[in-house]
Amino acid sequence: MDCIFCKIANGDIKTNKVYEDDKIIAFYDLEPKAPTHVLIIPKEHICCADELNESNCDIVSHIFSKIPSIAKDLSLDGYRIVNNCKENGGQTVFHLHFHLLGGTKLSGDFA
Ligand code: 5GP
Ligand code: ZN
Repeated sequence: MDCIFCKIANGDIKTNKVYEDDKIIAFYDLEPKAPTHVLIIPKEHICCADELNESNCDIVSHIFSKIPSIAKDLSLDGYRIVNNCKENGGQTVFHLHFHLLGGTKLSGDFA
């Protein structure tokens, strides 16, 4: 499968990592939309939030369990977590990921 985030997850493409364990990896976004912009992904390929179900959704709580320590390591005092789901939701890379945005006072806009 030709998935750029799978290649980042398995080390085929080198990236600027901020966190990694056996299940997830967090790395800086290539085109940051905030002073700090990190992507957090499962190593397992899941297309998008719409593909989550009872059998694979534990990864989401694992990701969220690590967000406070990742944010602390990045010195974020408040942040936003974003998931774009499918094309109409603004998703451009079809491997589940959560944007962690911070480093400034973010605007209240959602779209
Ligand atoms: P989406 O629009 O799917 O929610 O977000 C995809 C994000 O991945 C975008 O913010 C984009 O800048 C980022 N991105 C796309 N390709 C790469 C890449 O090869 N490396 C990194 N670090 N980020 C990427
Ligand atoms: Zn993938």
